[in-house]
Parts: sequence; C-alpha cells; structure tokens
Amino acid sequence: MHPRAPTPTLSPTVAPTLSIVIPCYNEAACLDVLHARVSAAARAVVGEDYEIVLINDGSRDDSWSVMQRLSAGDPHLVAINLSRNHGHQLALTAGLDLCSGAEILIIDADLQDPPELLGEMRATMHAQAADVVYAVRRRREGETLFKKATAAAFYRVLDRVTDTAIPVDTGDFRLMSRRALDALLSLPEQARFIRGMVAWVGFRQVPFAYDRAERHAGETNYPLAKMIRLAFDAVTGFSTAPLRWASHLGLALTGVSLLLIVYIAIGWLSGSAVAGWTSTMLVNVVIGAAQMFVLGMIGEYLGRLYIESKRRPLYLVADVAGPVRGRATLGF
Ligand code: UDP
Ligand code: MG
Repeated sequence: MHPRAPTPTLSPTVAPTLSIVIPCYNEAACLDVLHARVSAAARAVVGEDYEIVLINDGSRDDSWSVMQRLSAGDPHLVAINLSRNHGHQLALTAGLDLCSGAEILIIDADLQDPPELLGEMRATMHAQAADVVYAVRRRREGETLFKKATAAAFYRVLDRVTDTAIPVDTGDFRLMSRRALDALLSLPEQARFIRGMVAWVGFRQVPFAYDRAERHAGETNYPLAKMIRLAFDAVTGFSTAPLRWASHLGLALTGVSLLLIVYIAIGWLSGSAVAGWTSTMLVNVVIGAAQMFVLGMIGEYLGRLYIESKRRPLYLVADVAGPVRGRATLGF
C-alpha cells in the first residue's frame, strides 16, 4: 500500500500568544480594511506573535479569493473555506477549533467591533486575572430601531428563562484564555449559542463596555429569520422552561377542571342541564386536563433526556490549591 500522505497542518508549530478568529459571510468589501486594522491592533499588543484565522462561511461574493490573496501576502493569516454556509455560530466554532493561541479574540468581520480595543481588553484581562473579557454594547450605531429593540428584548427574555447567567447586550466580541476556550470546545452540542456556552463555562469573566460602530460595508447577515433561529437555539439550549410550562399548564388545567366538575354537578343536580350536556362536558374537561398533564409529564422527562443527551462535562475545575491525590478530572 502507499504510505499515507502527510496531513496538511494549518497551525504553526509554535502556538502564538494571540489568535484572532473572524467568521466571514459575504464580507469581501470589508476584508482588506479588516486585515489592516486587525494586524495593526495585534502588532501594537503582541508584536509579531499572533495569528489571524479567517473563516469563509460559504460566501456568495468573492470573500474566498480575497482571503487567498491576503494569506499569500501575510504569514500570520490562516484562512479556511467551509464547504457551504453553516451559519455564524458554526463558522466561529470551526475557527476556534483551529486556532492555537494562548489568548483568543473573537471579532466580527464587518468592523462593528473596533479591533483597536484589543489592547484595553487585554489589559483588563491581565489586571483582573480574568479568563474572559466580554464586550458589552453601550451604544449601537447605524442599526435600525427594529434591530435594537428586538436585540434588547431578546437579551432580557433570555436572562429570565435561562438557568445560566448570560450577560445582556453582549455579542461574541470577546477575549478568552486558552483554558476557557478549551472548556468551551469540550461542549459537544450541535445547536450552538456560543455566548451562552462561554457564560456556562464560568471561570472569571468580566465585562468591558464599548460603543458598537456601524458596519464598514455591506449589509447585516442576520435577517429576522436567522435572529429567530439564534433565539430558539439560545432558549432551548439553556433552558427547558417551555417544557416545564406545559406541565404547569397541565396542573393548572387539572385544578380548573375540578372546579368545572363541581359546576357541572350542580347543573345536573338542579336539573337545569340539557340532557347529555353533563356527560359530554365531564368527558371534555377531564380528558383535556389529563392530556395536558400527561403531556407535561412527558415534557419533563424529555427535557431531562435532552439535557443528558448533550453530554456536557459535569463541572470544570478552575484552580487547585494543595496536592491533588485523586484523579483530577477535566483539570486545567
Ligand atoms: N456571519 C457568518 N455566517 C453567517 C452570517 C454571518 O459567518 O451565516 C458572520 C458575518 O460575516 C459577521 C458576523 O457573522 O462577521 C456577524 O454578522 P452580521 O454583522 O451580519 O450580524 P449583525 O452584526 O448585524 O448582528
Ligand atoms: Mg455586524
């Protein structure tokens, strides 16, 4: 048999201090300026010790050829081309899987998140010994009222229904430590809501306020349909509350049906009910409530099954003091 061809490796042999991961969908018009600004920001902070990972998420414009041109002229740049459009969160996951830096900056391609903030974010990270510095949007420029209103509502509803404290008004723009990223990558779920997953991971996470700029060029790639899908991934990924609501509704209906049964019985006893009404009503009410309750119970089990099936790690260890004699599971 032929010896196996060596697998091409994308990552450099020595891991850089900083990786900057940027998912791109139809961003050809932004890429040159993006590359210049991100490179300058990285250089100002870590000198030559950085890599830029661009992910082409099945763009329909010539983003990929621009990336190829840029990577030919810059040894810091790695570009990967996904087979088709997989969506922002999966494109980002691909980049995060591939990057090798000790610190990782996630940033959008459209320059709405200024790369020049890197220095300050990094200073915050080191000063506060944080694992994650997440950028919180103080103001959003050049976005429609509708987008701002839906985003504001989304973050607040999410905060109410989820068990994980997911910071409000926070996108994916953030600086992370390697151990926080490795922990994030150990979550195996398919439907990924990355900002929630980072929050779930824990460790020390600190906010960093900034003003969100306008898009450099092009248009948002998050139309309403994609926003709704992201919202569903967020709620269902971090909460089984909707299933719980079904069982609560079932219980409430059972209570109401007991009252109705009394009312029906009074009608029957007083002889004011039309013949057949009593039995029909009884059957309706009792079966309706019972069905809702049983459905809710199934929902409760389904919810647990769902959580189990994600096979997330049960816990993540941040620090250990003193000698560890047992097996340090999932230790960092
Ligand atoms: N993006 C992507 N795949 C998609 C949609 C968006 O990789 O299917 C990228 C996009 O290129 C940008 C980031 O995700 O870097 C955020 O998208 P966008 O700026 O359109 O969203 P908005 O800022 O309007 O919420
Ligand atoms: Mg944008």
